[in-house]
Amino acid sequence: MTTHAQELERYEAQNRKSREAYERAEKILPLGVSSNFRTYAPFPIYIDRAAGSKMWDVDGREYTDFSMTFGALMVGHAHPVMVEALAKAAGEGTLYGMPHDREVRAAELIGERFSLEQVRFTNSGSESTMHALRLARAYTGRDKVLKFEGAYHGGHDTVLVSVKPPKNKLGPGKHPRPMPVGHGIPEGSTENTLVAQWNDPGSVRDLLQRHENEVAALILEPVMMNVGVIAPRDGFIEELRALCDEFGCLLIFDEVKTGAKLCWGGAQEWFKVKADIVCLAKAIGGGLPLGAFGASREIMNEIAAFRSFHAGTYASNPLATTACMVALDKILVKPAFKKTKALGEELAKGHNKILKKHGLPYCAVNVGCNGTVFWRKTPPRNYREWLDQDFDAFWRYWHMNLNRGVIPQAQCYDEQWTVSVQHTEKDVDHMLSVFDEICRAMK
Ligand code: PMP
Repeated sequence: MTTHAQELERYEAQNRKSREAYERAEKILPLGVSSNFRTYAPFPIYIDRAAGSKMWDVDGREYTDFSMTFGALMVGHAHPVMVEALAKAAGEGTLYGMPHDREVRAAELIGERFSLEQVRFTNSGSESTMHALRLARAYTGRDKVLKFEGAYHGGHDTVLVSVKPPKNKLGPGKHPRPMPVGHGIPEGSTENTLVAQWNDPGSVRDLLQRHENEVAALILEPVMMNVGVIAPRDGFIEELRALCDEFGCLLIFDEVKTGAKLCWGGAQEWFKVKADIVCLAKAIGGGLPLGAFGASREIMNEIAAFRSFHAGTYASNPLATTACMVALDKILVKPAFKKTKALGEELAKGHNKILKKHGLPYCAVNVGCNGTVFWRKTPPRNYREWLDQDFDAFWRYWHMNLNRGVIPQAQCYDEQWTVSVQHTEKDVDHMLSVFDEICRAMK
């Protein structure tokens, strides 16, 4: 049995080259990383290469990777079909700044899969939600937007509100107090962002009534996946659709994490609810930086009519659109989702069995290929319940996993595991056997 302190000693001893890489990186990159979400104490492991479901770090250690780059790599690492297509595409030029056939084909594939009449490309999820919200504001002529407490929609000012607000500043349950994330966000840019309570249609109705004819859109992750995995309760998404129709605001699905991952057609297929605008990134890019947003031709006409601005030097670059075509057409095909969902369920069931065996007061959940352990007795139903967890237990679990060659999910307790198309039963068994060892130590 090892304590967390002993695990940290082992971590230091096993990762000397990562420690060196971190010390060098920290001089030039704040926190030694290029995205705040990649840091954790005492220093992150630095990756050398990846293939299939595995990554290898600079110390030569192998990991079974269930982060899959925060769920972006539904195709898995270095998929042979992808590698071949990208190598060929790189030789044909990486940027044209002019239209080309691949962007049209990739857009058609997205349109067909996500029931979107028209699509525009971006380079990231943040850009997709930024443009989607602008489009909704242009189309409705309204300024306010509504989001849920605890939801993350990217790094732009409008949605950097109440992402992880502190417990003592939450405000009333039905009317959470909008809290900007960190400094540097002008008050004016967030005063149009209203915050509702997840899984509480009454909270949404109250806000839409209070701000009648002011709300352009309700933006949501149909399964909240920046607070673990919090599914909507039965009927909630349908109720949101009805409320948006009643109050004349647009329903925006932020499918950056759910698109081409939850199932073939994403959350619209899963919940059988049609959104007005869909935001995509991660899985659709097959590992390259690609995002997209789409809607009906009528809504997208705001862009065609030059009323809502959208442009970008790198939008639809030939490499990223090639990766998108390969991912959607050749790898993320319908049978793939059956397999990843089955493995996702096996993981959650396996975790719960082990927790029960050791009598630990935690639980695991999954929705399709995504899942996580919650460090509390029952799955939380919203951000406030999610806050009520033993986060110290997570960090012990995290380091113990890394020490044993498993990246159990994306770094930090607000993330989840992703089973990609390249994961196997063997990977699931590896994760579960390590979890068994961890739980024995935690008892
Ligand atoms: N929306 C959701 C739901 C996300 O999970 C993320 C990223 N984790 C984003 C938007 C932002 O995407 P990106 O990091 O590509 O800007």
